Amino acid sequence: MFFIFGVGPKTKVVEKKQFKCPVCRTCSNYELRQQRQYFSLFFIALFPVSRRQNTTVKCLHCGTVMPSMVLHHTQQEAK
Ligand SMILES: [Zn+2]
Repeated sequence: MFFIFGVGPKTKVVEKKQFKCPVCRTCSNYELRQQRQYFSLFFIALFPVSRRQNTTVKCLHCGTVMPSMVLHHTQQEAK
């Protein structure tokens, strides 16, 4: 019997909403994703090994992945 294990990133979509994309400049849907390093066994992610989370936003219109801080910028512009 042998084990296949390793550490790899796992991406989870935490939010789906609309925003004004700064890249393609259209009001489109986005996915807010959280990426963490997970310890996995037999390709099944078991538990997170890092506290640090990498949160990114993906525009579903043009496909650009950008840091989640762009959401705060676009919200400030709307005010
Ligand atoms: Zn876009």
